Amino acid sequence: MAKKTIEDVSWSGKRALVRVDFNVPMNDEGKITDDTRIRAALPTITYLADHGARVILMSHLGRPKGQRNDTYSLRRVADHLRGLLSGRRVFFVDDTVGETALAAVNELQDGDVLVLENVRFYPGEEKNDKDFAKALAGLGDVFVNDAFGTAHRAHASTAGIADYLPCVAGYLMEKEVGIMGQALANPERPFVAIIGGAKVSDKINVIENLLPKVDALLIGGGMANTFLAVQGYDMGKSLVEADAKETAARLLKLAEQHGSRLLLPEDVIAAKAFAADAEHTVRLVDEVEPDEMALDIGPKAIEVYQREIRGAKTVIWNGPMGVFEMPAFAKGTFAIAEAMAHADATTIVGGGDSVAAVEQAGVADRMSHVSTGGGASLEFLEGKLLPGVAVIADK
Ligand code: ADP
Ligand code: MG
Repeated sequence: MAKKTIEDVSWSGKRALVRVDFNVPMNDEGKITDDTRIRAALPTITYLADHGARVILMSHLGRPKGQRNDTYSLRRVADHLRGLLSGRRVFFVDDTVGETALAAVNELQDGDVLVLENVRFYPGEEKNDKDFAKALAGLGDVFVNDAFGTAHRAHASTAGIADYLPCVAGYLMEKEVGIMGQALANPERPFVAIIGGAKVSDKINVIENLLPKVDALLIGGGMANTFLAVQGYDMGKSLVEADAKETAARLLKLAEQHGSRLLLPEDVIAAKAFAADAEHTVRLVDEVEPDEMALDIGPKAIEVYQREIRGAKTVIWNGPMGVFEMPAFAKGTFAIAEAMAHADATTIVGGGDSVAAVEQAGVADRMSHVSTGGGASLEFLEGKLLPGVAVIADK
């Protein structure tokens, strides 16, 4: 169902209270090391300011656990934003719901931008406390949710606040929900999903949700080992989750029932140690030695998976194919990234580590969509209705 967006509101003179995800990584000196999330919010901020809104931004940063802590102040983020929005007045106030914040809001002129202090300096935020949500709501006329990255959390600034203000989606939220929602609900086919990462147990719900929808599901990463073990292969010292075997067996059966092809790697890169400099060999899955562990998919698997991706019209990827943090075991992951970059298809990447891999491979801008929310995109792919999405008004 389509959601109302910022384009459905007439903004002139209105206070747009925008939840953004400014939870950016910083180094020990408080310098922002990656401003992707700030840049991702610019289209919404610019639209609102251009249309005469008074733009009030709220976000969390880090885990201050309900207490004021200067390490997690949004002041530096506001300074950075000022640099990105040249020609706009960008203010910061070291308060979130008190008198000082209200005074700062009251001084805004149309087109101004104000960054409030970290919402997680207050215990009421993560508790989704009604009074805190109400106090936040008092700062705005319309609530704009543009924080896809925290949409899976029912907090005061992502969900509770919508009890007191009308809520519309910002551009980032609209894009995330639109492109992933379309892929899940009505994909152009063939629809191929690639699921990897360390553990089956982390990805059960995604696999379960995707199996009935996809034409093929390609499995890689540590979790492929548990599936292979269920099929009777001896995976040596590989990461095999004993207590997820039953689940893996059930998922294999589910694939059969839905007539979806669930593909496992035919070969792997095997090493005797979990180390960057460990000696490694290509092994067919029935050749893994008792003292070896599979740390990446092998060349045959790469070939098969690349062919599937080339033939697809929709590709969703979550979870690396191997221990890509170590160059010796990164080939499979980068091969998937490359194949997706060249595919004539809608290509979507979600998941913290998969997104990092795509960025490392230098192909992020060749994907149709790289999700800004790790946990949120995972829950979205699981088919869950995210609290921060549920509160946005329908068209
Ligand atoms: P995402 O963040 O994209 O959802 P995950 O967090 O599920 O991905 O998984 C990423 C982790 O999985 C990486 O740290 C990677 O090293 C690990 N991993 C991938 N393949 C293997 C493997 N064969 N053995 C052990 N760990 C693996
Ligand atoms: Mg991860």
